[in-house]
Amino acid sequence: MSIWRLPAGTAANMTVFMSGSREEFTLIRRADEMASEYLSGVRDRPVFPPAEARAALSAFDESLPVAGEDPRDTLELLHRVGTPATVTSNGPHYYGFVIGATLPAAAAAERLALAWDQCASGYANSPTASVLEARAGRWLLEVLDLPRPSAVGFGTSATACGLACLATARRALLARAGWDVQRDGVVGAPKIRVVLSEAVHVTIKKILRLLGFGQRDLVFAPVDAHNRVDPARLPPVDDRTIVCLQAGEVNTGEHDPFRDLIPTAKAAGAWVHVDGAFGLWARACAELRSFTDGVDLADSWTTDGHKWLNTPYDGAMAICRDPSLLSETMNADAPYATAEPTSQKNLTTEFSRRARGIAVWAALRSLGRTGVDEMVARHCRQARRLADGLRAAGVEILNRVVLNQVLGRLDTDARTRALVTACQQSGEVWFGPGVWQGRPAFRLSVSSWRTTDADIDRAVEVVTRELRRL
Ligand SMILES: *Cc1c(COP(=O)(O)O)cnc(C)c1O
Repeated sequence: MSIWRLPAGTAANMTVFMSGSREEFTLIRRADEMASEYLSGVRDRPVFPPAEARAALSAFDESLPVAGEDPRDTLELLHRVGTPATVTSNGPHYYGFVIGATLPAAAAAERLALAWDQCASGYANSPTASVLEARAGRWLLEVLDLPRPSAVGFGTSATACGLACLATARRALLARAGWDVQRDGVVGAPKIRVVLSEAVHVTIKKILRLLGFGQRDLVFAPVDAHNRVDPARLPPVDDRTIVCLQAGEVNTGEHDPFRDLIPTAKAAGAWVHVDGAFGLWARACAELRSFTDGVDLADSWTTDGHKWLNTPYDGAMAICRDPSLLSETMNADAPYATAEPTSQKNLTTEFSRRARGIAVWAALRSLGRTGVDEMVARHCRQARRLADGLRAAGVEILNRVVLNQVLGRLDTDARTRALVTACQQSGEVWFGPGVWQGRPAFRLSVSSWRTTDADIDRAVEVVTRELRRL
């Protein structure tokens, strides 16, 4: 009898499997069966869960059990009720945001790593995680061709990683101005301004807010018709300015002209940070690399694994040209937990976390340089195919489709909104609304490794059919 039950009459009547018991393995194997079954259906499941499946989520409205429920029953409930109400973003027909699916090698590595349950804060907690994340970091710098001595921290998101980079930027600029922010704080410190794109991602604004920058500290740089910062209209920058640029704008997929902007900003003594959540991956692709010319001249960069690299949620990277600036800013050494400056806990916001770099390592190892290049190139080709098909169906395409983003609208705002709703409700594709130059639009991103050219044609058919029905 390996199910452990406390005798009746004790405070709890827990059902816990004994460590290493057959029940424990059977339970994990059952979860794996469910996962495999889910994946085998990922092509045919509704892309957005139907109303009945969402309504059935009320089965989770249970009160917290006093006596623990059976782990097997817990897993069955999760599968029976939870699975049907998932969004199939790990499938081929999902074009919302830039979500990406999960590559098999990354998903499998993640599964094994979950069994290891490593705390990836540093070598003392996990030699395996520490060595693998260091290797993944080196490979990342190679595949993105960023300065090789840079530090790479693995965090939860581009938001969390951007926080680490921008905190580092402020600390470094203040130090150059003779102000030790770690000793003297930000109150009374020399003013640091942030110049950022008018088309900046909302998460950069959030990071700046968290760091204590006010709206009056932000100077927006005007953008051109493609939402790229216009070098001719770059606001004045100096050695107390952080310049935030962007690789991959969410509507157009376009890159700021780094070659024209970064040398100017650097010559003035500014710190340049590049938000490359998805668009930095253009640099891994020979056909698209020129969009990123000069991006390697920046001081710090963020990018996601969970978007275009198709690693599981969640995982992102903070990259900093000067490793010691990042590790001093993010240092989390304590008397009981000192570590190398290269320890992950000294590079990102998290102290304890799972080894997100393992999925990045597995994705890069299984794709290789060529695989990354081909996946990124294919998605961009498919985005053009999608745009051509939609145009033929009567959709106005609003961007140049230079990357994996397609931005469209119909002749009236009402019809634009109705098309988005109809397509979402079809369950056959999913893409989201957007706003372009003050009017409703919709946005499709191609970023799942599972999406084939035939899937693109099918998406065009669905949109064409729904358009006719409007
Ligand atoms: C998604 C995105 C972010 C935020 O990334 P998270 O990993 O979701 O925090 C930042 N910038 C751009 C351009 C993005 O597309």
